[in-house]
Amino acid sequence: MKRPKPSYVVRPETAVLTRGFDPRLSVGSARPAVFRSSTYVFSSPESAARAFDIALGRARPAVGESVDLIYSRLSHPNAEILEDQIVPLEQGASAAAVFNSGMAAISTLLLTFCPPGTALVHSTPLYGGTQLLLRSLLEPLGVRTIAVDAGDTAGLAVAIASTAKLRLVFVETPANPTLRMTDIRSAVESARRHPDAPLVAVDNTFLGPSFQHPLQLGADLAVYSATKYLAGFSDMLAGVVLARDGGLVATLRGMRAVLGNILQPDECWLLNTRLVTVPLRMNRQSKNAQRIAEAIASHPAVRRVHYPSLETDPEQCRIRDAQCDYPGGIVTLDLHGGRPAAFTFLRGLRIAKNAVSLGGVESLACHPRTTTHSEMTLEELDRAGVTEGMVRLSVGIEDWRDLLADVRAALDAIAPAG
Ligand SMILES: *Cc1c(COP(=O)(O)O)cnc(C)c1O
Repeated sequence: MKRPKPSYVVRPETAVLTRGFDPRLSVGSARPAVFRSSTYVFSSPESAARAFDIALGRARPAVGESVDLIYSRLSHPNAEILEDQIVPLEQGASAAAVFNSGMAAISTLLLTFCPPGTALVHSTPLYGGTQLLLRSLLEPLGVRTIAVDAGDTAGLAVAIASTAKLRLVFVETPANPTLRMTDIRSAVESARRHPDAPLVAVDNTFLGPSFQHPLQLGADLAVYSATKYLAGFSDMLAGVVLARDGGLVATLRGMRAVLGNILQPDECWLLNTRLVTVPLRMNRQSKNAQRIAEAIASHPAVRRVHYPSLETDPEQCRIRDAQCDYPGGIVTLDLHGGRPAAFTFLRGLRIAKNAVSLGGVESLACHPRTTTHSEMTLEELDRAGVTEGMVRLSVGIEDWRDLLADVRAALDAIAPAG
C-alpha cells in the first residue's frame, strides 16, 4: 500500500529555504542555476501548440502536466523559481508575479484592474511615482481617482461606499514619509460591502513581508518595491505582486507579457538569493530603528519623531496594534529649524549616507520635501504633514550604538543636547 506523504506545516523562515525549488530541474544544483535564454526549444510541434493554448488562456493545464516554456517575456525558469520561493514569505499568498521594478508592478496592477471609465480610491500621500502614475497616465486615460488622507478610517469608508464603478482600493501603509497608518481590515470590509466588489491592494513595501500581512487581513493583493527590503542591498530594482487568488496573478502575468516588464533572469536569481535573509535583516533593522527612535525623541533639536512605537494618537495606536507586528526600520525626524536644520543634520551624518531609497543593509537619510516628495504641490505637502524640517532615516544593520552616536552628533550640530 502506498503511504500518504506526511503533511507538515513550517514557518516562513523554513519554507523559504525548503519550498518551491526542485534541484532536479537545475541538474542537481543545490541552489538555482541562471537560465539566460530568451527562447526555449519545444519538445514537439504539438507541445508548442499546447503551450500557446495555455499561455493565451485557451486551455488550462491538467494537474501535474508539464508545459513547455515559450519565450522569456512570458515567463522563464528563474522567474518561476523566484515566484514559487517568495510565496511562503507572504502569509496568505498562493501565487506571485515578478516585475522589473516596483513601479512596473504597480503600473501593471493599475492598468490591469482599472480600465478607462472606472474609479480607484487610494490613501494619500502615496509613493511619488505612484502619485505621478495616477496623474499623468491613469487620469488622462479616464480613470477617476479619489484620495483619502492616510489614517482617516471613517473617510475611507465613506469614499469607498460613495464611489460608483469602483474597481480598486489602493492603500499604502505606513505612508511615506510620515508613517501614518491606514486600517487595512476596515478598507477590506468597506470594499466587501460595495456592490462592484472592488479589489483591495496594499503597497506593503515599508513593513512587509515580515511585519505586516495584508492578505491575512483580507486584502486581495500585496505589492512590493522589492528594490527595498526584499533585495536589501541597494544594488538592484525589482517589484512583486502576491495574491491569495492565483487567478488574479495569472491575469497580471498576461498584462506583464504585453507590457514586457518581467524581471530578467539574472535579477530573479539575485533576488532569490536575498529572500532567505529578509526576516533576519528586517528584524535587525527594526530593532536598531526602535532603539534610535526612542533614544533621540527627547533631543532638543527634535520637534517630533514619527515612528510606530512612539505613536500617541489613539486611532493610530489602534491601527498599529491591529496590523503591525513590529515598528520597522524607517524613522522620520521632524527637526526644529526647518530646512536649514534638516540640511545641517544630513551634512553632519558620517555613517548614514544622504541618498533616497530605503530598506538596504546600509543606513540612508534624505530630505523628502526637496527630493522624494518634490513632485507634490506645497499645499499637498502641508496637508500630508511633509514639513521642511523632516528627514527620513532608513536604518541599516550596522551596530546600533554607532548609528545612535552618528545621529546624536548630527543632531548636536543643530542644537547641542544638555
Ligand atoms: C520605492 C517604492 C516604490 C517604487 O519602487 P521602484 O522599485 O523604485 O520602482 C513604490 N512604493 C514604495 C512604498 C516605495 O518605497
